[in-house]
Formats: sequence, C-alpha cells, structure tokens
Amino acid sequence: MKYDVVALGELLIDFTPAGVSPAGNPLFERNAGGATVNVLAALSRLGKKTAFIGKVGEDPFGHYLRAALIAERIDDSGLIHTKAAHTTMAFVHLDEHGERSFHFCRQPGADIALAYDEVDQELLCNTRLFHFGSISMTSEPAYSATVQAVRFAKSQGALITYDPNWRPALWKDDAHSRKTMEEGLRLADVVKVSQEELFFLTGSQLLPEGVTQLLQSFSLNLVLVTLGAEGTYYSTLRLSGQVNSYPVSAIDTTGAGDGFMGAFMYQLLEMDKPVTEWEQAELENAVAFANAAGALAATRKGAISSLATLERIEKLQSMSEDKHIH
Ligand code: ADP
Repeated sequence: MKYDVVALGELLIDFTPAGVSPAGNPLFERNAGGATVNVLAALSRLGKKTAFIGKVGEDPFGHYLRAALIAERIDDSGLIHTKAAHTTMAFVHLDEHGERSFHFCRQPGADIALAYDEVDQELLCNTRLFHFGSISMTSEPAYSATVQAVRFAKSQGALITYDPNWRPALWKDDAHSRKTMEEGLRLADVVKVSQEELFFLTGSQLLPEGVTQLLQSFSLNLVLVTLGAEGTYYSTLRLSGQVNSYPVSAIDTTGAGDGFMGAFMYQLLEMDKPVTEWEQAELENAVAFANAAGALAATRKGAISSLATLERIEKLQSMSEDKHIH
C-alpha cells in the first residue's frame, strides 16, 4: 500500500484571536484548520504516510493551505483549487469569560464544493485506513463526495475510521445533523465521539447504554468516547472499559481530540490485526497511548502545532506508568 491513511474533509483557515493592535483593534492569527487534516498531521508526525482529499479556493489562503499540508508531509495531490468559491474561513471569537464561539464564512466555501468526480480514486485504492468526519457532509456536493469516497475505499479493503463532529452552526437543524451523522455511522468501522456527541446521537445520558446502542444500531467494531481530562471510554461488542488520561497542565484543548484520534489510528496500523480480535490489554494500551497524545496536545496552544511526537508520548507514558487505573 502506498499510504497508511487517506482522509477526505474540510481544509480551512482558522482565524484565532491574537490580542489587540496598538490601535486597540482585535487581531486574528491565520492557522490551517480542519479536523481531518489535524488527524493526518498527527499521524504524519508519528511517521505514517498520509494523503488528503479536499478543496480550497484559488486564492492566497488556498495556496497557504497547500503549503501547510506539504510542511506536515501530508501528500497534497488530492487537494483541488476552485475559482468558484473562496477558501473557507472560520473566525474564533472569545467573549468576556473566555468562552469560544465560531463564525464561519462558508456560504458557500470552497471545501463544500468538492464533487466525487474530482476525487482521485487512486488514493482510495491505495490506503490501509480511510478517515472522514461529518463537517464535509453538511451540504452538497461534498456530502455525496464523502459518502461515495468512503464506500469506494471500503470496497477496496480500507478500514474506515470516523469522527462525527457536531458544530450546530454548520447544520440546518438538529434533525438534519443527526440524520447525516448517522449516515456516517453506517459506513464506519471505528468511531470516536465526545460524550456530548454520544448523547446527541443516542439520546442516552448513560455512557455504557449509549455506546451499546451505537454498536448495535450500526455495525461498528469499536466506539471510543473521549472524556477530556478523565480519559476515554472504549467499547467493542465483547470488551469495554475506561482508561484514565495523564495529569497535565492543559492550556488549550484545541486539537486534543484530533491528536487522540491520530494516535489511536497509529496503533491500529501498528497492531495490524482486526480490532475485534484485540485482547483487552491491547485495547487499553492503544487507548492509553492515544490519551497521552491527546493530553500532550492540550498542553500547547493551537491544533497542528501542538501535536505530539512519538518521543514525547512515550516519555509522558513512562513518567506516569504507575498512574494508570484500569
Ligand atoms: P474532543 O472532545 O475534541 O474529542 P477531548 O477534549 O475529550 O477531545 O480530548 C481527547 C483526549 O485527549 C481525551 O480523551 C484525553 O485522553 C485527552 N485529554 C484532553 N484534555 C485533557 C486534559 N486536560 N488532561 C489530560 N488529558 C486530556
């Protein structure tokens, strides 16, 4: 296989607050953003061969995003430019309590303009894992491009990983987002959700019950529920449990979930046997490794720039060996 992981998704500019100018006006910092790209960057930092499929504008921001992929050693041959829409942008606003809100310039944005006939099928045939999220499923033609690409990659033997991201501002309404996120669940093998997303999808306030509902309703092999500082709950149809995270001083959790997911996918690749055949200890070791990657991403500002190397992950794990509670 030419690639370890290929992902399709949104690639956009995140304008994050960066203080005030001498004139007293808020400043924004230009960052590459998009959950699927963060996951690829995490894997590439761990030495895996990755490629991205998506669309940006034929504008300076689009060119910057291509350079950002290359800088992270993510294959950019599946990135397409369009003149018909501007590169998608998200502005992060902080209120007086430090709470973040997102304002999207995406009516339309280039990322949604990706059509299936523009997707390079070679990439879909040549990967061990195929990863996607739900942000590329909010509108057409990107919705069909995502679903068809996942189906084709699956038919070619790729294992499908999925992170349904729930950003209410990007959907028509809750019914639309739930229905679409569920469509993704139907196609996936391994799924990562936050507790909030689990409750949104299942209506269940109880962790084991909600996860069992997901495993049974959709034919999933593994569900991972990230619980912030408390670590991660995992469940297959056979095994389940919670693995604590590592104590760190968190300053910015942006990218923690993506760093976690990338690190878990690294373990899927290293193990090289179906997750349904893993022993409990193997599952818990892989989750602990991913927890360490998530915890480290929370100790630094930014998404891609905060992602951990193998060396930092192993160091954090060996420093707190005795702190695991299974
Ligand atoms: P998301 O909600 O984006 O999926 P989380 O914030 O739950 O992501 O973080 C993903 C993982 O990163 C968690 O499951 C945990 O292992 C780790 N993590 C996140 N925040 C912290 C923290 N403050 N301390 C320790 N680990 C953390």
